[in-house]
Amino acid sequence: MVSHEEIDSPPFFSHGIVELTDRSTDFVVISLVSAVMAAIFITDALTSLDIAVAVLYVLVIMIAMRSFSAQGIGLLTLACTCLTLAAFFNSHDNLLCAAFARCLVSLVAIAIAGWLAVTTKQFSDRLQAQLKLLAQTHDAIIVCTIDGSISGWNLGAHTLYGWSEGEAKNRKCWDLLNTRSSTPLPVIKDELLTNGYWEGELMETTRTGKEVIILSRWSLYKDSSGRPQAILASNNDITDERRAEEALHRSQTELAHVSRLTMLGELGTSIAHEVNQPLAAITTNAEAALRWLRRTEPDLNEAQAAMERVSSNARRACEVILRIRAWTRKSIPKYELLDIEAVLTDSLTLLDREIYHHRVNIIRYAEGRSLHVSGDPVQLQQVVINLIMNGMQAIEFADGRTRDIHVRTRHRDQTIVVEIEDSGSGIGEENKAILFDAFFTTKENGMGIGLCICRSIIEAHGGAIWGECKEKQGATFSFTLPALTQIPET
Ligand code: ADP
Repeated sequence: MVSHEEIDSPPFFSHGIVELTDRSTDFVVISLVSAVMAAIFITDALTSLDIAVAVLYVLVIMIAMRSFSAQGIGLLTLACTCLTLAAFFNSHDNLLCAAFARCLVSLVAIAIAGWLAVTTKQFSDRLQAQLKLLAQTHDAIIVCTIDGSISGWNLGAHTLYGWSEGEAKNRKCWDLLNTRSSTPLPVIKDELLTNGYWEGELMETTRTGKEVIILSRWSLYKDSSGRPQAILASNNDITDERRAEEALHRSQTELAHVSRLTMLGELGTSIAHEVNQPLAAITTNAEAALRWLRRTEPDLNEAQAAMERVSSNARRACEVILRIRAWTRKSIPKYELLDIEAVLTDSLTLLDREIYHHRVNIIRYAEGRSLHVSGDPVQLQQVVINLIMNGMQAIEFADGRTRDIHVRTRHRDQTIVVEIEDSGSGIGEENKAILFDAFFTTKENGMGIGLCICRSIIEAHGGAIWGECKEKQGATFSFTLPALTQIPET
């Protein structure tokens, strides 16, 4: 693990005269500056050359830029100015006017060189500071050439992947990190070259062989003529978040399964009725067929008709059992093309006995257009059954009203909306905000997980669910699902 404190404090914050970055270089620079200054001063003050020797102080300022801070360069410029003036006053030149002109030229040159050096130094200090601050980021920043060779590797990348900058540089990024993605790499590169940007998830391997899930954002750097020069990738390790999401998803699936089993228990009478009805019809029709066949003159037509009824009832019983098996199976959701009207019909079939028992009228309104969605049929039935069961229970609480549940389906923009409106007790103002919270219940034997599971199912399908109430006039629970406008061919 590499600590971010290991980085030197940025020169932006340094106010010394000399920036002590590399002591041996600094020593050489200081010695050189002192020696050249001394040589120029001696030549300027003690000889009577007819040239502006002091102009050479410009060289001193240039050399100092290597190691001096902006403040140090400013002070050095001042020292050079003073030495130039001292040499002028010390000079015994007979032609005072010429000496003054040379001194003036030198002072102007020193001032301009000093000003340029200070401003350049300040600019480069700011740039350096920004670069160092950027290096402090916990994101792994990698710069690659277009063909994928690593040219930049910050501390975050070192921390995340384990390779130091020196080890990573010039290696092929995708080979070093064993980059894998659900989108092929050439497709990613094409998108980057077209849009200048790409963002997505990658699987990569660190130096220790650990697999990590990375959220990667790539930007394309182009030169002034628009030619792609480099790729800047900013990477974040999201392995823990993804694992936590997967665990949450697994527990939600488990909870949904438990809730389905509980619901099946509650629907026991309906289910027994659903299975018993066709079984009774099979027995009756089989016996009738036998009677037609045992006649002295067997009536084959009647026997055939009875056997056809046996067959169709057997199919119906099979369908019910299959549906119940699907409900009890603990499987990960399987998305398929569904007509939402068929989902409602199947759910109402399972609820048949409950509806009869609660003496509730189900009134359905459909748009007539096809209402196709992509979804898991068992999970969506679970939502519908949950909402209708809640509606029926709310009607029980509210005696003396009409016992109607209106089920509406319609298109709205790009979604399909399903509304289940009851004439029950309604939702108290104080409960509106917590309706979908886990374990919120106002029922004596309620578990308070039904609506919470409905929400997680609908959100996993890319939709939304909410409840509204007209005080003392019942409640309306609605959910949306993304509409499939183009039905895939099967
Ligand atoms: P449970 O049915 O076990 O209480 P739910 O999560 O399905 O759990 O419902 C939570 C609570 O929301 C219910 O206890 C009830 O107070 C309220 N609620 C749900 N549906 C309705 C409805 N149709 N009318 C009035 N209140 C409702």
